[in-house]
Amino acid sequence: MTKIDRTPTKNDFEHVTEWVFDLDNTLYPHHVNLFAQIDKNMTAYVSALLQMEQEEARKLQKQYYYDHGTTLQGLMIHHGVDPNDFLEKAHAIDYSALTPQPDLAEAIKALPGRKFIFTNGSVPHAQAAASALGILDHFDDIFDIVAADYLPKPAQATYDKFTALKKIETNKAAMFEDLPRNLTVPKALGMQTVLLVPRNLEETVVEWWEKTSGEDDHIDFVTDDLADFLKKITT
Ligand SMILES: [Mg+2]
Repeated sequence: MTKIDRTPTKNDFEHVTEWVFDLDNTLYPHHVNLFAQIDKNMTAYVSALLQMEQEEARKLQKQYYYDHGTTLQGLMIHHGVDPNDFLEKAHAIDYSALTPQPDLAEAIKALPGRKFIFTNGSVPHAQAAASALGILDHFDDIFDIVAADYLPKPAQATYDKFTALKKIETNKAAMFEDLPRNLTVPKALGMQTVLLVPRNLEETVVEWWEKTSGEDDHIDFVTDDLADFLKKITT
């Protein structure tokens, strides 16, 4: 019996006082597709930097993402790019697709304890996105790719740095993420783990889950509605 079959209860999160959220496709849903704009900016950046056609630049961008966890990490290693310049240009996007989410704001506010954003993006990007969603004020702190010395999740060292810096008791923590691989370390550290999946895809995910059963013990819960999930575990 996998935990995906269970509705979370308050019991499952009663011990949690440290709430850790990924940003992109977690605090706002996948279908908003904000990342498409960032993705385009990154392709343009690689194209300009290396004098490549869009298509070739895009291939290299994705290669660096797969090899190094972020395009930025690959660009720093192989081309010595200035990370600040890259982050600024990559995140020069239109945030108007994000609108205030009062239900989510209420749900986050109601969580007992500290709340963090832990992102492979930048602090200005996290602030802009969370602000557009109307949830920024409910977070205690943001840990970004700069604080992580540009070493992205799922690197163990980055979780260690985050938890040490913010003095997080990992066995009292819960982590919310849309990328399954980013939940492996949190689970090993003793956190409750929640996977965010795109809306209306839960059935697909359940099928996938059943087929791959046994390989995903690091994911405790799966949801396609963060506000609803948070309400279920606090009321
Ligand atoms: Mg994400």
